[in-house]
Amino acid sequence: MTEVAQNVFSFEGTAVNWIILRDGRDLTLIDGGWPGDAPAVEESIRSLGCRPQDVQAVLLTHAHVDHMGAVKDLHRRFGIPVYTGDVEVRHARREFLEQATVADVQKAPQELLLPWMERVLRVGALDDPAIPDATPIPPGPLDLPGGPVALPAPGHTTGHLAFHLPGPGALVTGDALVTGHALSPIEGPQLIPWFFTHSEPEARATLAAFETLDVDLILPGHGEPANLPIAEAVAIARRNAAQTAAERGLS
Ligand SMILES: [Zn+2]
Repeated sequence: MTEVAQNVFSFEGTAVNWIILRDGRDLTLIDGGWPGDAPAVEESIRSLGCRPQDVQAVLLTHAHVDHMGAVKDLHRRFGIPVYTGDVEVRHARREFLEQATVADVQKAPQELLLPWMERVLRVGALDDPAIPDATPIPPGPLDLPGGPVALPAPGHTTGHLAFHLPGPGALVTGDALVTGHALSPIEGPQLIPWFFTHSEPEARATLAAFETLDVDLILPGHGEPANLPIAEAVAIARRNAAQTAAERGLS
């Protein structure tokens, strides 16, 4: 666990992160790891001296099993409401699926793929994470601990969101901008490996939207939190994307 800013905590599960925002005893959880990360998510709440019942809401950046698997468990056991955007909420209910297939994932470097597959299969990578009563985020500012502001961040999925924390100048980027990934050979700010991405043009447009934010703390879904101005992170991610595209023979 790292307290990355006052009352903002980043936790790492099985090659994926979740974020907790604290206001007194009340918490907001953003994302929650794989199904098998559920005990670790509960432990992360208790490590702050709180109980799962103190979580006022779970916000999802997007509805992939590595970000909502453990959330399903918390939702079921403690009745914690689960919110995401009005497109992604249908994804969370599994009215549609935008997720890399096994064939897509085979495009990862083989030496990274096998150890990752072994790890994620043990934490429920093939489980159904659907949350049928996930709820669309209501319009207007979110009255939740930490004061997160939802921003559209499409690309990785169509309805992907980021959450801006104006107080500490942080951005919870989910998989719209990461600083590493178990299936990526590069470290530092980058787009998530392309074979996981639903729309690469949308992912690039989202980087351009991030660039204008007043943010110097990046809290990604994968990789380490990063203290650097978002415009710098975006510039590095663009250079990495150009390099990867060249290696794929796209430019
Ligand atoms: Zn992810």
